[in-house]
Amino acid sequence: MSKTMKAAVMTGIRKLEIQEVPMPTIDDNQVLVKVKHVGICGSDVHFYEYGNIGDFVVKPPFILGHESGGEVVEVGKNVTTLKVGDKVALEPGIPCGKCEYCKRGDYNLCPDVVFLATPPYDGVFAEYIAYPENMAFKLPDGVDTMDGAMVEPLNVALHAINLADAKLGESALVLGCGCIGMLTILTLKAAGVKEIYAVDVLPPRIEKARTLGVKEVWNGKDVDVLAMVDMVTNGRGVDMVFETAGTVKTTQLTIGAVAKGGRIVITGMAAEPLIPLDIIGLVCKEAKIFSQFRYKNLYPKGIKLIADKSINVKEVVSDTCTLDDLPEMFEKSIKEKDKVIKAVVEM
Ligand SMILES: [Zn+2]
Ligand SMILES: [Zn+2]
Repeated sequence: MSKTMKAAVMTGIRKLEIQEVPMPTIDDNQVLVKVKHVGICGSDVHFYEYGNIGDFVVKPPFILGHESGGEVVEVGKNVTTLKVGDKVALEPGIPCGKCEYCKRGDYNLCPDVVFLATPPYDGVFAEYIAYPENMAFKLPDGVDTMDGAMVEPLNVALHAINLADAKLGESALVLGCGCIGMLTILTLKAAGVKEIYAVDVLPPRIEKARTLGVKEVWNGKDVDVLAMVDMVTNGRGVDMVFETAGTVKTTQLTIGAVAKGGRIVITGMAAEPLIPLDIIGLVCKEAKIFSQFRYKNLYPKGIKLIADKSINVKEVVSDTCTLDDLPEMFEKSIKEKDKVIKAVVEM
C-alpha cells in the first residue's frame, strides 16, 4: 500500500486544499478503514468559516469531517468483531473509559474524549483512517456507507427524543429545519408522534420539511409562531419542543410553545451565551428543559432503525460531491445555506 493518501486539509480560514498526507497505520486494537462517505456537518462549516467554535481553535494544517462510513481493509491482531471487507460506521468520539462520566455510561460528557475534527484531533475528510475496533460499527446488508455516515446526525435526533421521552400519540414542535431538525421530524414519526409542527425561515427548507409529513410548517418570519401553536392546539401547547436552530429567538419560543408539564430539548447552540427566558412562564407550566450534548450508546440502535426502514436518512441528503470538489462544496454550504441541507462527500 502506498505511503501517502489524499486528504482535504484546512490551511487557514476559508482555505481548504487537497493534499497528500501520510497514510495512517493501525495498532493491534484498530482497523484501517477505507473511507467511502463523509457528511459535512454544520460544525465543519463553522470551523472552516471562522476558525473556531468557542474555545476550540483550529491550528492549521487541520482535517475536518466526523460523520463517516467506510470499508475495513486491514485489521489489528487483537480485532475479533470485524474483518476485511466489512462496511462500518465510525462513532467520532473516543471516550477515555476511565472517568466518572464514562464509568456511569454518560461518555458523551467525558472531558478527555478524542472527538474527530474537534481541535486538536484531525477528522476524516481523507481516504483512510485508523480506528479503534470498539468504535467502528458493522453495517448489515441493506445499509450502505452513506447511511453509515448519516448515523452520526441521526443519533443527535435519537438522543433528543430519548431525553424528551417521546410517546405514541403526543404532539411536537421542531424549531429549525436543517439536517438535525429534519432528522428529528423523521425520528419522531418513527416513534409514533404524528402531530408534528415545524418552523424555519428559509423557503427551500420549509418546502422540504413539508414533504417529510409534518402537519404544518411555518415561516417564522411571516407568522407569529406562538399564535399558530395556540391555534392548532386550542391554547394547550405541544407536549414537546425541540430547539435545533440555535438562535436566541427560537430558544425563547420554547417556553411559550410547550404545554403544561411538557418537555423542551435544547439541541441547537445559539452564538450568544446569555438568553433571557420567561422563567415565570416555565415555572407556572412545570415544564422540563433538557439540554443535549451529542449522544451516547446509540450507534447500534441508529443502524438498526435504518436497516429496518423505520427511518430513511437519505431523505435529508441534499448534495453530494467528490473529495476533490470538497473546497467548492464548503463554499456552497456558506453561500447557499438555504439549499444545502446535508452535503455528503462520496469517495
Ligand atoms: Zn455532526
Ligand atoms: Zn471519560
